[in-house]
Amino acid sequence: MPSRPLRQLSLFLLLVGLATASTVGTFRLTQQLGIADLQATGVHRLELYSASLEREIGKYAFLPGTLGLEPDVVALLRQPNDARRARSVSSYLEQLNERAGTLSIYLIDANGRVRAASNWQRGGSFIDEDLSFRPYFRDAMDNGNGRFFGIGTTRGEPGYYLSSRLADADGTLGVAVTKVSLEQLEKSWTTVEAPAIVSDENGVVILGSAADWKFTTLRPLDEATRSAFDQTLQYNRRALKPLGLREIRELEHGTRLVSISGDSQEMISVYPVTGRFLAQSRQLPGTQWTLTVFSHLEQVDKIAQSRAALACIATVLIFMIGVMLDERRRHLRDRLAAQRALQRAHDELERKVEERTTDLSASNQALQEEIAERIRAERTLRAAQDELVQAGKLAVIGQLSAGVAHELNQPLAALRTLSGNSVRFLERGDLTTTRTNLERIAQLADKMGDITGQLRNFARKSSGQLQAVPLCKAIDNALALLEPRLRGAGVELRRHCPLPEPLALCDANRLEQVLVNLLGNALDALAGHPAPCIELTCSSHAGQAILSVRDNGPGLAETARQHLFEPFFTTKGAGEGLGLGLAISAGIVRDFGGTLSGDNPPDGGARFTLEIPLAVEKPTHG
Ligand code: ADP
Repeated sequence: MPSRPLRQLSLFLLLVGLATASTVGTFRLTQQLGIADLQATGVHRLELYSASLEREIGKYAFLPGTLGLEPDVVALLRQPNDARRARSVSSYLEQLNERAGTLSIYLIDANGRVRAASNWQRGGSFIDEDLSFRPYFRDAMDNGNGRFFGIGTTRGEPGYYLSSRLADADGTLGVAVTKVSLEQLEKSWTTVEAPAIVSDENGVVILGSAADWKFTTLRPLDEATRSAFDQTLQYNRRALKPLGLREIRELEHGTRLVSISGDSQEMISVYPVTGRFLAQSRQLPGTQWTLTVFSHLEQVDKIAQSRAALACIATVLIFMIGVMLDERRRHLRDRLAAQRALQRAHDELERKVEERTTDLSASNQALQEEIAERIRAERTLRAAQDELVQAGKLAVIGQLSAGVAHELNQPLAALRTLSGNSVRFLERGDLTTTRTNLERIAQLADKMGDITGQLRNFARKSSGQLQAVPLCKAIDNALALLEPRLRGAGVELRRHCPLPEPLALCDANRLEQVLVNLLGNALDALAGHPAPCIELTCSSHAGQAILSVRDNGPGLAETARQHLFEPFFTTKGAGEGLGLGLAISAGIVRDFGGTLSGDNPPDGGARFTLEIPLAVEKPTHG
């Protein structure tokens, strides 16, 4: 689909094209129809004008011929030198001329000399003039009749010459001539509605609606024609200017489109005499003259122009209405399409929602079941863990009990001896020794109290609340608990505690339990080692308190690494280990949100690392 500006441009171009086509088409069609109309009217006018002209000429055509009926005329021509008869005939011709309203009537003898003339009494009379050179004389002599337009050689008066040969039984006597005034012929044109001209065989206008048109030429005259005019004095050396007629186009039936550019702005009647015309011509019967009627095209052009303008406006209007309707249709179509798309999207959405709801409820149910399952598993694990913790404690207590018994037996035996001795020293009155013994007894009782206190600590159930616990303090407590074993094994202890010591967010008792367990494992691993060493390191990094317990024992066996934190996994013999220590420890550390991991460092031994989130509060553990 084209873009909006492109569509607008193509619509505009289409509109311009259609408007131009309709304007030009209508103009041409209306013009052609108008020209056809004008042609029909022109033909009608042509017939009308030529008929009236012929009728006018016809009125005089018979006149020269009838003079042959006059005996005096015949007698004069037989004896041209009879002066008396010449005068009476001339007088007769004068009267006849007057009655007929012609310009002049005269008789020419067979030699071409004028023998009698209607103007015999006026100055410039034709009498005795030699007119043998005049074409109308020669035509009449040769053919019986002559017609000629010309300008009088004597008086310079233009006129139409009608000549007839007069003869008797013996032969040709002479020629009678009647000269008719052009004005007389023009009289018949006073009522014409369109300009018309009569041109002679030379293309010279001899009659014209406009006075200026007379004695103009329709076509350029060559030199030979001009010199012939000089010989015949046809136009009596009048200057023959061109009419300024230019043929534009030849139409059918001898009709031509012409333009007249003449200088004359004179208006005859109501019609213009310059501009574009439809020219229609026909030859006048019995003459070599051509009658041309001009129909002005201005009216036709105006009508064609106004109709073309109307067609243009109508085209634009129809086009605009079409475009508007099309726009409306497009708009409606787009709206419907948008509605359909919306409906589809809505349906799709509903379908998806339904699908998802079903999926969701299914997955929800599955999730719920899984959660319930996990909760159950968690509960089971926690219960097992709790049990294991207790069991672990008991195990540690079991392990400790031998040491505890040993530790307590020694002071107890010492207490027994010291108290027995004290009684005897008191009986002897040796108070100094008695006091020394009692002080030693108090020290031993304190030491025993320490041992039992730590055992109580280990056995105590955790509060479950996380607090800021100083790591080094926890290490010290754990070491104190295992002190007899450590000492017994001769272990070298290395302890690295930075200052300020890191505070881990955890439960102090449970952390100590973990450490006791790790240290206990280390001691187990170091059994029989020639130079046992345990290294404890505290640090902090990226929000974590890090505590590692490392020994220089044999390190973690391959199977132990794979199952390290699994409950009941142990490499120790029966009665030595339950395989619960690390599993419980890992669970405790996990409770703190931390991790417990074990590995073999490159330089030997085993290392366990605790990572517990750092606390920011003040330490509460004492
Ligand atoms: P137990 O000590 O009862 O065997 P634990 O869970 O504490 O159970 O330890 C599991 C096993 O991990 C031990 O049996 C031992 O094989 C191995 N282990 C633990 N600590 C060490 C250590 N420091 N060096 C070597 N092996 C160790």
